Amino acid sequence: MNSVYIHIPFCLTKCGYCGFNSRPPASDNEAGAYCQILIKEIENCKPGNSELKTVYFGGGTPSLLSAIQLADILKAIKKKFGSFGDDCEVTIEANPGTVDIYKLSDLRQAGFNRLSLGVQSFDPDLLKLMGRRHTAEQALAAFRDARQAGFRNISLDLIFALPGQSLENWEADLARALELGPEHISLYSLTYEPDTEFTRQKEQGRLTPASEELEEEMYLAAIEAMGSAGYAHYEVSNFARKGFRSRHNLNYWMGGDYLGFGAGAHSHLEGKRWSNFKDSDKYLAALAKGNSPAEMEEELTREQRIFETIFLGLRMTEGIAVGEFEKKWGMAPTKYMPKVWRKLEENYYLEKEGGRVRLNIEGLLLSDTILADFAP
Ligand code: SF4
Repeated sequence: MNSVYIHIPFCLTKCGYCGFNSRPPASDNEAGAYCQILIKEIENCKPGNSELKTVYFGGGTPSLLSAIQLADILKAIKKKFGSFGDDCEVTIEANPGTVDIYKLSDLRQAGFNRLSLGVQSFDPDLLKLMGRRHTAEQALAAFRDARQAGFRNISLDLIFALPGQSLENWEADLARALELGPEHISLYSLTYEPDTEFTRQKEQGRLTPASEELEEEMYLAAIEAMGSAGYAHYEVSNFARKGFRSRHNLNYWMGGDYLGFGAGAHSHLEGKRWSNFKDSDKYLAALAKGNSPAEMEEELTREQRIFETIFLGLRMTEGIAVGEFEKKWGMAPTKYMPKVWRKLEENYYLEKEGGRVRLNIEGLLLSDTILADFAP
């Protein structure tokens, strides 16, 4: 077990597109009480023997907590899992507007060495449309402050295919992000998640989604811009400079083990998967009574594990190493659901080279839909 995920489910307000497990804290004390219980969950866990390689604080908005609260959680992880140095990737997601140079310096000092900044766009109208609470200027200031505070590994998140967003506007966002020179960039195509404000507005005809053609043009423009700027495209939505791929996410995508702490956090250990109560009241109540906060637990079947290997493997641009797959599962990947593989081949979405099988750009663009056919 090499990775730990910490979920902080609080945000000041809900963004229009957000399907994550997050909400505004009910009171000033709620975040403090949540941290204490989360630390208790860490103290109760069985850590295993291997050294931690990655720690990731996600949410929600982890940067809403104070630097002291965040440092306390990190201390609890170190106490339980053994201390780790700068070679352990320790990421915190932050929203511009919730951090300044002082807080970022404290976070760096506490042991965070990677910052994932939720910029989403530099366009004031689009930021407003999404319900983001920060301005483009605050995003630029947060990036500058993070550098000054000593963060040498910064990732930026941007969203495209937003309602009303033009290709030119998207290219301007990409150019501004690249001007900053982050080590890593995640570019997500907007998805309409159930029970979100955007989905409600779309159903009521108050919001017009981007056309598929425009979405494709935007994706291709992004790949072009990132490639020209020297970023390797290594997963459907992720680009990195040499040596800066997200090790935490790579562990997920390669089927590695991880432990998740906090409301709704997922864990995966030796073929077993479980997730905590999503509802933070139920999560807190379970731990306060000394019970397990797990809401769901399952032993993954062989089919589920093969599906995940294929689904996650083909979302990475390097695809699947056929030999390794055969060694692990006793058959070639194409022997699992051969009809789906045939369909991918007939639609020209596949590339086979150097003992690997992978999706081409058209395939990556449609990966969510076309890979779902592999589900057992
Ligand atoms: S800041 Fe992130 S987690 Fe919070 S509401 Fe917005 S999109 Fe969701």
